[in-house]
Amino acid sequence: MISLPADLIPDPFDPKALDSFVGESIDRALGPDEATVVELLDHPDDAAPATQTAADWRIANDAQAEWAARKWRRAMEEIAEADAQRDEWVAQIRAWHADAVAKSTVTKLFMQQQLERYGLLRRRADPSAKTTKLPSATIKTTQHGAAVDVADGDAALEWARVRNADIIQKREWLRVSDVRERVKVAERPTGLYDIDLSCGCSIVSALDDAPCDELGNVWLAELIIDCPNHGLRYQAIALSTQTELVAVDSFGDVVESMTVVPSHVSVRVVE
Ligand SMILES: [Zn+2]
Repeated sequence: MISLPADLIPDPFDPKALDSFVGESIDRALGPDEATVVELLDHPDDAAPATQTAADWRIANDAQAEWAARKWRRAMEEIAEADAQRDEWVAQIRAWHADAVAKSTVTKLFMQQQLERYGLLRRRADPSAKTTKLPSATIKTTQHGAAVDVADGDAALEWARVRNADIIQKREWLRVSDVRERVKVAERPTGLYDIDLSCGCSIVSALDDAPCDELGNVWLAELIIDCPNHGLRYQAIALSTQTELVAVDSFGDVVESMTVVPSHVSVRVVE
């Protein structure tokens, strides 16, 4: 299906509402709101346009999606134009700066070399003249003992492998793909239950003193629980174990240093 040109698609809401929404978002320093997209995926029914305000608006069909896509694309173009303008201006500022400091930079280096040479000559003539204090600068000289330095890093490392392997520094790191080979996602009971009560409420409880058979099955008929909303003594009519996803290694142990990103649908817009 070929969508209508954006100009022919009727605005889904008052364009002024979009402008004021964008303005308010800038005022509140809001970035793109990913939560809105996630919410849409979780509750597709909410996608129906309910109101005419920008914040509450949801795309209802492909035509409106195309309208939004062209707004998005134009915004991308405007950002690219502004970026190009910035780069051009930055280049001009750099050129101006290089010109502005050219003479001072040469003067600074030349005078620095002269002062350093003078300081070294003074110290050579008089070993106690380590520092020369002038009103506008201080020339400091420092004695350094002879010391070894590494000239060729690769060759020095090769020497160390043969002669002094114990001084070789190693940077340790893990590859996520290797971790995922050894550590798997597993579902683990949390020790909590979701319990539906006869009053109609659902509560979460640890059920410390639940009546159980030998297999651990809870006898629902005997499970009487106080409801926080309705008061005392309501019968449990359904019960399910709460679980969480954990990282478990090949030894069967939970790896506390790792979390599980639940299965999810990701989305992105591309040109
Ligand atoms: Zn209740």
